[in-house]
Amino acid sequence: MMTLNHGFSGYICARVAAPVLKRHCPFSEKNLVLALFLGAMLPDLDIISTVLGHGAYFSGAWYGHRQFSHSVPGTLMLALLFSIPLFPVLAGRGHPRPRRAWLWLVGALWAGGWVHIFGDLFTPGMKMPVFWPLDFHLGGFSHIGWFSPYLLWLFVATIAIGWGLRLIPNWHPPAKRWIGWAAWGWYGVAAYRWVNFLLTSRYDSFSQWAGYQQDLLPEVLIAPVTEGVRVLWFWLTR
Ligand SMILES: [Zn+2]
Repeated sequence: MMTLNHGFSGYICARVAAPVLKRHCPFSEKNLVLALFLGAMLPDLDIISTVLGHGAYFSGAWYGHRQFSHSVPGTLMLALLFSIPLFPVLAGRGHPRPRRAWLWLVGALWAGGWVHIFGDLFTPGMKMPVFWPLDFHLGGFSHIGWFSPYLLWLFVATIAIGWGLRLIPNWHPPAKRWIGWAAWGWYGVAAYRWVNFLLTSRYDSFSQWAGYQQDLLPEVLIAPVTEGVRVLWFWLTR
């Protein structure tokens, strides 16, 4: 999937799990959700391998795209690495239980990495060494082209409505509670639709996939996403 879509899928999964997790998490629900959002984008930082040349990025070497970075130990390493700069921002400097807060932060970033791997299992062509260094590759299910304007707009609309519901003034606490549950249900429906879309769509070729998106969305919503991805792809493959 597109990197931003990975982040949004992590955000929505975190919102669905938040009512349970926030009872135990030693920092705020907002920061827990943000950690999953960021963690779900970290594996695509393997793009830094392009400093060795674009061939390195598309190679099967451990530092290439969808190699070590898209594995269980790789996502743990990224979570540990990024927990260092993110700890003061998300878990809070001077936290009374810093070890517990740090473990939760690493766990949230790592869980985001797992959401990323799950999303990438369905894209065509490239299986991933999920249990690196074992020579056992998973994925390439060809259910979804990594480029998906439909998913982008699904996530953007869901998050915008979820935020809108939270902005309703606290004029009546019982009503506010029901609105909170409505927002949670909204995120749940979006998470279900995301998984359902991964399982039921089918990628055969770029032109077939483009036509499939056009059946789901008006062109005015597809064109800006297509142009943005075209520019990125040109830069990656030039
Ligand atoms: Zn990826």
